[in-house]
Amino acid sequence: MDHGLRGTRIGAHTVFGGFDGELEPRVSYLFRCEHNHETTVTFSAEAELPDTWGCRVCGASATRIADDKPVDLGVSDAAAPRTHWDMLLERRSLEELEELLEERLNFLRERRATALADMRANS
Ligand SMILES: [Zn+2]
Repeated sequence: MDHGLRGTRIGAHTVFGGFDGELEPRVSYLFRCEHNHETTVTFSAEAELPDTWGCRVCGASATRIADDKPVDLGVSDAAAPRTHWDMLLERRSLEELEELLEERLNFLRERRATALADMRANS
């Protein structure tokens, strides 16, 4: 009896495993043409992704929409969002930053020493 149950379970697992193996990963992308027609195209996850696709409604060239924004086509990454740190690095070299940090640390050390001296003087 015990044997029979176990056999069923193994069999079910095998069937599921076979089905799983046949599933091909697929990704859907949205393309939008200049007339705002939306075309959804499903690609195999391994396929090379085109940036443009022929609009299914009017045949015009549609641009792939990524995160609801049109894909950049050859635009330099100058417009890419920069972090505060990026901007800081543009204005100052790393050595300069280290110098500034050292200055700041010295200032803090001095201030702490002064504070300690004050505390001792007041007690
Ligand atoms: Zn169209």
